[in-house]
Amino acid sequence: MLTKMAQGILEEVLMNTALVEDLAEVAKDEALLQGVVMRTRETPNSSELVTYTPLTLFPTSVPKAVFLQALAVQTHYNTLVDRISQDSDFLKEALASTIEVDDFTARLFRIYQQILKEGRSQSIVLGLNRSDYMLDQRDDGTSSLKQIEINTIAACFGGLSSRTPDVHRHVLKVAGRLEESQHILDNNPAAGLAQGIAKAWELYGSERAVIVFLVEENPEIFDHRYVEKELWKRNIRSIRRRFDDVSRTGSLDQDKRLFIDGLEVAVVYFRTGFMPQNYTTEQSWDVRLMMECSRAVKCPDISTHLAGTKKVQQVLARPGVLEKFFPDQPQAVELIRATFAGLYTLDMGPEGDKTVAMALAEPDRFVLKPQREGGGNNIYGSEICQVLEAVKDSTERTAYILMDKIHPAPVHNYLLRRDAPLKMSTCLSELGVFGAYVRRGEDMVMNECVGHLLRTKSSEHSDGGVAAGVAVLDNPLLI
Ligand code: ADP
Ligand code: MG
Repeated sequence: MLTKMAQGILEEVLMNTALVEDLAEVAKDEALLQGVVMRTRETPNSSELVTYTPLTLFPTSVPKAVFLQALAVQTHYNTLVDRISQDSDFLKEALASTIEVDDFTARLFRIYQQILKEGRSQSIVLGLNRSDYMLDQRDDGTSSLKQIEINTIAACFGGLSSRTPDVHRHVLKVAGRLEESQHILDNNPAAGLAQGIAKAWELYGSERAVIVFLVEENPEIFDHRYVEKELWKRNIRSIRRRFDDVSRTGSLDQDKRLFIDGLEVAVVYFRTGFMPQNYTTEQSWDVRLMMECSRAVKCPDISTHLAGTKKVQQVLARPGVLEKFFPDQPQAVELIRATFAGLYTLDMGPEGDKTVAMALAEPDRFVLKPQREGGGNNIYGSEICQVLEAVKDSTERTAYILMDKIHPAPVHNYLLRRDAPLKMSTCLSELGVFGAYVRRGEDMVMNECVGHLLRTKSSEHSDGGVAAGVAVLDNPLLI
């Protein structure tokens, strides 16, 4: 079922096959001209061959009020993540059941405990996150903003999404839709992310010190390059290294300053390290610990990384928890809570038993989520029953949380992707909002919303991001 809003604006254009074919060529060329590019799957470590980053042919309508709501809540989410990261009692309690059964979270948690024991050697905190939402369709045709998750590590597409507005503007112009083309917003998350990094670098206080982008094999290198370029504009040097490189050439001096290849490091910006596969050897874990113990500013530090887990998200939705983090700010609590979907514990005990029964009775109403990032890990539909039947009587179930499934209004669009035939798809979109903050000791010295990202996928896929080849880049067209 397509809503009126969805069909309104571009329907004539969408149905005009000859025009659509022309526009698809125009869009791909414009993407290349604008630098909306990525390395090919075949050569992810070389820029000799590049292609356009998959994107929609047309922007997607988003109600202005909901869009502004997402921007408005972002600085509160920044504050929330930052406060959680400083509350060790909360993190310990929230993650207690999870780390019993989830090895990856447990491993991160061990690093955290070591830091708690030794004390932090750096009081500067840099947070760069992205809060993701879908617009849940109400019966009356309006939609409400519901958070899917918040990414506190390696949130991507802040670079490429600063270049996509010009692609869609151009496509709409060529399609004779000048007026709509003027409604596509400017967007520059890369500048804001770099501003946060630059602020942390400045506070670190050494002109010679560098920023390290911790990376892996990455076809999306161009997304990082935009942030690097913003740093170079300020004459801040950045280098790219893998866990492996740091293992060989990284060390701490007696003051716990981090050196890599002889260069002092002011900020470690993690663009990897969020999933078990990123830690290919034991040495990768040693490197994570070494960096965490160092005086370099970590983005994110281990506690901020843990604050972004799905288990923490579920605990935050419990009555009274937000109030604890915002004791004198009922308005912040209200703004944040309004974006929560139903989230349910699978901890052992009567409440978790109730969650199991509810999920087994109506699996299509929910999404079952393990503590993983990067797309493709969630469980839907009848598979929820299979998984829960197998684990429901054991503590293994506490590795998951259950969440209400959000139902955005499907819209028609064309997804432009290399080697995929051009065809109209029924699509769902996910809106991301980037946040950047810097704190030194008790002082929040920066707390900002720095841009947005719209990603769209065919409704036949329930999960999976751009990197997984499912979602593509898009732009909101405010209505
Ligand atoms: P990941 O860390 O793997 O990105 P997410 O929680 O973002 O995990 O889920 C991945 C994808 O699954 C989302 O991009 C979205 O398409 C879909 N998804 C996740 N949660 C929900 C939900 N509650 N309702 C509908 N779709 C969801
Ligand atoms: Mg996600």
